[in-house]
Amino acid sequence: MATLLEKPATFHGGLHLSAEKAQSLTGPLKPALIPRRLYVPLSQNIGEPAEAVVKTGNRVLRGQLIARSLGYISAPVHAPTSGVISDIGDYPVPHPSGLSATCIVIDSDGEDRVADSGLKMENVFQSDPADIRQRVRDAGIVGLGGAGFPTAVKLNPGPDHVVDLLVINGAECEPYISCDEALMCCRPNDIIEGIRIMRHALHAKQVVIGIEDNMPNAIDCLQKELTRLDEKEIRITPVPARYPAGGEKQLIYALTGEEVPSQGLPIDIGVVCHNVGTAAAIARAINNGEPLISRIVTVTGAGIHQPCNLDVRIGTPIASLVEQCGGYTDDAARLLLGGPMMGFALRNDSVPVIKTSNCILAANTKELPDPPPASPCIRCAQCTDVCPASLLPQQLYWYAFARDMEKIQDYNLFDCIECGCCAQVCPSHIPLVQYYRFAKTEIWDMEREREKSDLARRRHEARLERLEREKRALEERRARARKSLDKKPKVGNADAKKSEIAAALARVKAKKTESSDVAPRNTDNLTPEQRVKIDEVEQRRSSSKPDGA
Ligand code: SF4
Ligand code: SF4
Repeated sequence: MATLLEKPATFHGGLHLSAEKAQSLTGPLKPALIPRRLYVPLSQNIGEPAEAVVKTGNRVLRGQLIARSLGYISAPVHAPTSGVISDIGDYPVPHPSGLSATCIVIDSDGEDRVADSGLKMENVFQSDPADIRQRVRDAGIVGLGGAGFPTAVKLNPGPDHVVDLLVINGAECEPYISCDEALMCCRPNDIIEGIRIMRHALHAKQVVIGIEDNMPNAIDCLQKELTRLDEKEIRITPVPARYPAGGEKQLIYALTGEEVPSQGLPIDIGVVCHNVGTAAAIARAINNGEPLISRIVTVTGAGIHQPCNLDVRIGTPIASLVEQCGGYTDDAARLLLGGPMMGFALRNDSVPVIKTSNCILAANTKELPDPPPASPCIRCAQCTDVCPASLLPQQLYWYAFARDMEKIQDYNLFDCIECGCCAQVCPSHIPLVQYYRFAKTEIWDMEREREKSDLARRRHEARLERLEREKRALEERRARARKSLDKKPKVGNADAKKSEIAAALARVKAKKTESSDVAPRNTDNLTPEQRVKIDEVEQRRSSSKPDGA
């Protein structure tokens, strides 16, 4: 059972990074302009992509469902504004591969007319948790702090699990990203309301908000809201500002001193963890009926004229946001989606913002210099010292390099959170995280292939079983037929056969005799007048008969 520590524990490894959040926190949180055309990908989160339920030419309203979820780990997609569906096709999406994917393209009508989503809930704290989860699912809410796991799934720990502790993650540890801090400062009421709804849905015994101690304004704003509501059951705990304090496992360790088991989940130790942005999105869905159609995005870096945080409609092209922030500076050299530690380079700025996009970083070469060429590993073990997951990064690198996918899994590759600490300190400048991502992709591909061949093998075995079953059934039918024939009189029993035939003939004869004995009955019981009339007729007939007849 996870219990809160009085003083946060220190997790292993990690780095002290220079905070660069101030540049995007200078102004208030502003709504971004709605672009003329929005590109809404069908896949924006972990799990199955959604399936379009609209067609080209359809008119849609803001918040209207445009793609439904397929399966349990999937989230529906809603129209970010009102307008006309101008296309459904492949367009560039934010992904390290640079590949395209299916998007629903909406031409905005500029009116931003809203649909009734039906998500709003009265008396939420008297409601069944299952109803709350369904609304959260219908609202298309996914985790806004990381990979975008569908939130309704994480609100359903199952009957075998008790939630001892609900952890709310406000520890935004990447140096440039400030969207969560802006949210905590500007909308503390949404966050606290969302936390209370989650606490009710999970029957969580305790709740804590973990915030890095270099965000005093955010801590202050949330504390004021808790005081205003006289809410004493939600605690705020500042955690040391050390990267990656916002990693789920690292934050849970800092707050409870307990480790989530390797390849396990927080619920294995009675903990559920959600991001502050997710909490606010839940409150807006349940209280205001707003599906997840927008999120806060930090647009920052020395390559942007006016860094800031914007409330952005999903599907807005990044180029449009850069333009609203004064455009690129002359020395802008690199464009990243996410922070410098965990983000990835974008090939161009035409890709849209999706539910998991937290930061657009346009950096100059002073901020993010091009990495020097890699040299051989010198086995200095600096990477091991900083790994917050207590892994052996150089071993992982060797096995990824040798493509030994079995061995690399023995070294717990899938516990790697891709924080980039190891690559940051590597004196040989080896792009270690790229090797781990490559290895993970290879293993997933292999798993998919194995699943496919397993499926083919199971189908083949099922067919053989079916054929065998049919053969057995046929043999059983034949055996039954033979048995019933054996019970019938044998051909050699001629007397029995003869007597059977004689009996049948007798039955036919008796029937005939019976029918011939039956006299016509329409002349019975005649009246005297009828009798006279019949006699006259008989008389006429006989007199009219020709001679000799
Ligand atoms: S830090 Fe780099 S050079 Fe040192 S052991 Fe790790 S991979 Fe090798
Ligand atoms: S990227 Fe992975 S291996 Fe490297 S420090 Fe982070 S968790 Fe450890």
